[in-house]
Amino acid sequence: MAADGEERTKEPTGEREELRTLVAQLRTNIAARGRSGLLGVAMPARMTAGAPASVPKKSAGPIAPAPLPSPPPQTVSMRSTGTRDEERDPSAPRGAAGLQLVREELGDCKRCKLCATRTNIVFGVGNPDAHLVFVGEAPGADEDAQGEPFVGKAGQLLTKMIEAMGYARGDVYICNVLKCRPPGNRNPEPDEVASCEPFLKKQLGAIRPRMIVALGKFAVQCLLRDDSPIGRLRGNLRSYEGIPLMPTFHPAYLLRDPSKKKLAWDDLKAVNAALAEVGISPPRPPAP
Ligand code: URA
Repeated sequence: MAADGEERTKEPTGEREELRTLVAQLRTNIAARGRSGLLGVAMPARMTAGAPASVPKKSAGPIAPAPLPSPPPQTVSMRSTGTRDEERDPSAPRGAAGLQLVREELGDCKRCKLCATRTNIVFGVGNPDAHLVFVGEAPGADEDAQGEPFVGKAGQLLTKMIEAMGYARGDVYICNVLKCRPPGNRNPEPDEVASCEPFLKKQLGAIRPRMIVALGKFAVQCLLRDDSPIGRLRGNLRSYEGIPLMPTFHPAYLLRDPSKKKLAWDDLKAVNAALAEVGISPPRPPAP
């Protein structure tokens, strides 16, 4: 038995030395990346919340692979509005007029099979000039019936989270990756995302928010093209189409596991802090 109580297998000393050297090199590389960010620009500690500063110690045997921090810290500039600025047609309408055009283009959408079972297209709701956009997965039964995102139980919790940040629901914009309800609330399928995501991109192009909050595993993994677990992705500021994006838990998940509410609140406080860096503060004081 080893001193830490774990049984360890024996290995030849040469191999063990080689492994130690490799692990030490890996740790040095990771520490350097953590200090500088991927693009070599230092970033404030609060923007890397959740990304470990060093490789966590684990009491595994000597041949266990060194745990990799995931995701690596990413440099996300709150000052830049990203590549979208250069790519966009500067004369394209923004705000309400821009959203109206996107809605007209979507029309009575029949681009995927969800059109056969939906009651309403759930386009999005809120301020067309919002600094802050919340993106969920897809409408549920209540949203499908009412044609508005996040109006069921999870939506009521989302509204409370938004209010705790110092905003009213109407100050922000709320939408989903999919605009139609998957039957039985099953997970969205790739062809459905492929048909619908371009419209989310166009909505964001019209609103041009300074921050996206992506709600839950599906929306986060889909928008970031990253299948890391949500528990690791949350709290780390990323970027979608040049817009800073904060991954956090879905309110429906928080209803199932209220112990995670504290972490979600940390993420939303980090959003307020990041927006404050570019001079954007909520209209009302946030909850402590
Ligand atoms: N869950 C979502 O992801 N979106 C909604 O609009 C409602 C529930």
